[in-house]
Amino acid sequence: MHTVTLIPGDGIGPEVTAAAVEVIAAAGIKINWEIADMGITALEKYGTPLPDEAIASVKKNKFALKGPVTTPVGKGFRSVNVGLRQALNLYANLRPVKSFPGIPSPFSSVDLVVVRENTEDLYAGVEHNIGNVAAEAVKIITKEASNRIARFAFQYALEHRRKKVTAVHKANILKLSDGLFLNTCQAAARDYPDIEFSDRIIDALCMDLVLAPHKYDVLVLPNLYGDIVSDLCAGLVGGLGLVPGANIGTEGAVFEAVHGSAPDIAGKGIANPTALMLCAAMLLDQLGETTAAEKIRRGIEQVIEEKIALTRDLGGSSSTREFTEAICRAIV
Ligand code: ATP
Ligand code: MG
Repeated sequence: MHTVTLIPGDGIGPEVTAAAVEVIAAAGIKINWEIADMGITALEKYGTPLPDEAIASVKKNKFALKGPVTTPVGKGFRSVNVGLRQALNLYANLRPVKSFPGIPSPFSSVDLVVVRENTEDLYAGVEHNIGNVAAEAVKIITKEASNRIARFAFQYALEHRRKKVTAVHKANILKLSDGLFLNTCQAAARDYPDIEFSDRIIDALCMDLVLAPHKYDVLVLPNLYGDIVSDLCAGLVGGLGLVPGANIGTEGAVFEAVHGSAPDIAGKGIANPTALMLCAAMLLDQLGETTAAEKIRRGIEQVIEEKIALTRDLGGSSSTREFTEAICRAIV
C-alpha cells in the first residue's frame, strides 16, 4: 500500500481534497493517507502556517496531495506555498490544460502544458522599502534554475510525445534576467533536436493564446509569467475549477490545483473538485497506478460531457457531493 501525505488546506481545500480521496478509493486504489496541517489550521494548532511536521511528512512520503493553503495576511508570514516549494526544492510546476467536451469555453480541443519555474524570479522574496518613498522587489533569474526548468520541459515533451516547446520571456526589455532565461532555454534546445523550439515575448503570447491557443504545445516560463499565464490558460478551458498541477522536485512531488482557497464559496459544499481529482490522477500516474488514473479521467469526462451532474461554475446546480458521487458511480 502507498503512503501519501494529505494536506486538506484552507477554504474549499477540505471539501475538494475529500472528493479527490473518494475518487481514488472508487478507482480501487488503497492509500494510507498521512494528514498534515498547513495554512490557517496549522497556525491555530502549531503557531505557524508551515509546521516542520508537515514538511517532514512530505519529505518522508515523497508525494503529497494538497488543497489550497492561505497565507495569513499582515502577520509577517512569508507565503506558505513558496515556503513549501523552497523547503522541498519543488523546482518545476507542471500544469496540463485540456478542454473538456461539453464545457462552454472560448475554444474546443485546447491541449497545452504550462511548465512554470517554481523557485526564483520575483518570488525569491527579496523586497524592501526605500525609506517611505519607494519599494523595491528584486527579480532573480539564475542559469542553474533556468537550465533545470528548460530541460524539465524538453524531457517532459519527449516522454509525453509533445512536439513543441515555447520559451516565454520579456528579453527585449529585461535583457539580462529574461535574456539569461531565453539563452539558457536556447542552449538546452540544442540537446533536443526532435522537439521543435521557439520563443515568444510574454505580451504577444497572451494575445496569441486568446486568439489561437492551438499554435502552442508546451510552454516554459519563469515563475511570475507562469503564474499569470496559468490562470489565463485555465480561462481558455472553462475556469479554475478544472486545471490540476504538480510541483515536482528531485525528492518528490506535491499535487495541487491551480486555483486558490476560494473563500467566497468555502464551506458551502458547491466547489468544483475536478482540479483536485485530476491532481489525484496525476498522483496515481506517479505511483505507477496508470490504469486507475485513466479511469478517474474518463469518469470525470463522462460526467461532465453527459451533464450527469455539474457544479455551479460549470453552469449546473449540483453540489460538490452530488458531482463526486456521480463520478464515483461512473468509475465502477
Ligand atoms: P487565494 O487567495 O487562496 O488564491 P482567491 O480569492 O484568489 O484565493 P481563487 O481560489 O484563486 O480565490 O478563486 C478565484 C475565483 O474562482 C473565486 O471566485 C472562486 O470562487 C472561483 N473558484 C476557484 N476555484 C474554484 C473551484 N474549485 N470551484 C468553483 N469555483 C472556484
Ligand atoms: Mg487566487
